[in-house]
Amino acid sequence: MTFVQVALDVPLPRLFDYRADDASVADIGRRVTVPFGSGTKTGLIVGIAEISDQPPEKLKPAEAVLRDMPPLPADWLALCEFCGRYYQHPLGQVMAFALPPMLRKGKLPKARKPKVSRGETPPDAVMPALLPEQQAAVEAITLARGFETFLLHGVTGSGKTEVYLRAIDVVLAAGKQALMLVPEIALTPQLEQRVSERFPGAHIVSAHSGIADAARARGFLDALEGRADIVLGTRLSVFLPLPHLGLIVVDEEHDASFKQQEGLRYSARDVAVFRAKQRDIPIVLGSATPALETFHHAISGRYHLLELHHRAVAEAPPVVRTIDTRREKLQDGMSAALIEALAERLARGEQSLVFLNRRGYAPVLACPACGWVSRCRRCAANMVLHLADKRLRCHHCGLEAGIPRACPDCGNQDIHPFGRGTQRLESALSERFPEARILRIDRDSASTPKKWQALLAAIHAGEADLLIGTQMMAKGHDFPRLTLVGVVGADAALFAADFRAPERLFAQLMQVGGRSGRHDLPGEVLIQTEYPTHPLYRALVDHDYAAFARTQLDERQMAGFPPFSFQAMLRAEARDMSQSLDFLAAARDAAVLLAGEAVALYDPVPMRLARLKNLDRAQLLVESQSRPALQTFLTAWNTRLHELKAPRELRWHLDVDPAEY
Ligand code: ADP
Ligand code: ZN
Ligand code: ZN
Repeated sequence: MTFVQVALDVPLPRLFDYRADDASVADIGRRVTVPFGSGTKTGLIVGIAEISDQPPEKLKPAEAVLRDMPPLPADWLALCEFCGRYYQHPLGQVMAFALPPMLRKGKLPKARKPKVSRGETPPDAVMPALLPEQQAAVEAITLARGFETFLLHGVTGSGKTEVYLRAIDVVLAAGKQALMLVPEIALTPQLEQRVSERFPGAHIVSAHSGIADAARARGFLDALEGRADIVLGTRLSVFLPLPHLGLIVVDEEHDASFKQQEGLRYSARDVAVFRAKQRDIPIVLGSATPALETFHHAISGRYHLLELHHRAVAEAPPVVRTIDTRREKLQDGMSAALIEALAERLARGEQSLVFLNRRGYAPVLACPACGWVSRCRRCAANMVLHLADKRLRCHHCGLEAGIPRACPDCGNQDIHPFGRGTQRLESALSERFPEARILRIDRDSASTPKKWQALLAAIHAGEADLLIGTQMMAKGHDFPRLTLVGVVGADAALFAADFRAPERLFAQLMQVGGRSGRHDLPGEVLIQTEYPTHPLYRALVDHDYAAFARTQLDERQMAGFPPFSFQAMLRAEARDMSQSLDFLAAARDAAVLLAGEAVALYDPVPMRLARLKNLDRAQLLVESQSRPALQTFLTAWNTRLHELKAPRELRWHLDVDPAEY
């Protein structure tokens, strides 16, 4: 009798055996429909056996092995197995996640559009002559024999993308496929265009969550069947099967969006490195502000560091200065120096950007008489005042409410907004500069890709003098007439509880500063701060990422934080904080014997955002100096966790290499 071992999309860390007498080893990696519970499910065959652990009479027959597409290759299955093991996630759920929804459901996309004949390919786009450092980088990458991880470190505009394109060119010429990961493809159509202009004859597949189901499935099949030359996509594209993969590029490798914060909590960058190793090919991680983990590997020699020190086009980097706001009375949150600099740009017909990473009008509405504040009733958070559409809105759960006319507690009519968001800055600036054309760019004004495109087009067309933006403005855009970036309200991140906050702030400010002066006009960055001598700001003024990274790494080493230790987080959420904490306490008890000397167990504590959508959340950190020790522990612990008794509505998950605390 023949059995197939099937990975199913269920939250259990096991496989399911079914009888399938017509199946053979050639069916490993194929989809199969099987009876499950009272219905049927589609899963993937990951093994074939003649004997099952289960008594044969108990095993049900599989309904059908789907042979309408090629089986997923062994290395793809191994990649999913690695992710399941490493991230402590059931294999069936990893595979379900890695497959496009349509294929996961056992369907196939309708017949493809007739394949465009490549015919005569248009002449290759003109390539600029490489600068010496670019040349050296391209040579190192293309001469790599087998697996090697490169960190391409260079400021925005130093020509990193040009290096990727050259390396991809070599890979395509050798008949291989290239995979390029970018943080948010919806924000980077410029890149898509640049790639397709450079490789007019190549079949480029885009993969991201914004792509319609059928197209996504088709892209997956194109990759699987070797038709795709280049896959360009967000984190999920790291799971596309690529039989002839020759190179992986991860652009903006430090970007937080590479880490998924739900379900399979994977880091696409780390999975990409695993994949390059598995396939024995080079991988390039590129950034102006590498993740400290990555930089640590680069200076300790594990990764090959390639540096681009100069901008490729504009000669000078922007001048960065701090404005000491300790002794100044600010007007609408802005210093006299910043206002003057904005006025100067307006007079010269140049664009400015004021960067404030907080959307809405004000972070909270409050009653000075009784102390009432606009709390969200579902979260341990304040509702943010949005004057533009006259709402209070919780940025964590989306709950909305009207703006009360008077204090709901004491009836006081004189309630005030406290603090400052982009909308408030926008209205202050339009009062101060009534003649200026002002655009606000944040998740509210750019709520759809279409609106975002329209905003970008308006900026490019020179239809705005003054931009007010959140971190949305930091990413990869090139605005020729933008010469001033003012930064307000950044200090809070210096002292945040999350040890990664300074790293993120530095990256953000460096990126947003890089928006200014990218062409013939010199750029200037003004940072308002009460801590002008803080090493983070000093390093920005000096354009010295390495200095910043080294001080941060020293601090982390002393504190024993990653990359000098490895962490995992167990989180639980339930109706009551005591339920969450009790579960974690039981989990900790179960861990004590498994942990041994090598793994440290912390105490269960409420999360920083302790209540979200009516659920009380707590977490338990585990840490080790040894990655293998942590992995061994987690595997054993995970099994025990599935056996623990918990209130029915309690949810828990493990997050390996957590990015948020
Ligand atoms: P990054 O990816 O580091 O931001 P890009 O590769 O986008 O940098 O390069 C920035 C700009 O400089 C682009 O307009 C690009 O076309 C141009 N560029 C890059 N390399 C060269 C070069 N060697 N000679 C001339 N222009 C270049
Ligand atoms: Zn009141
Ligand atoms: Zn809420």
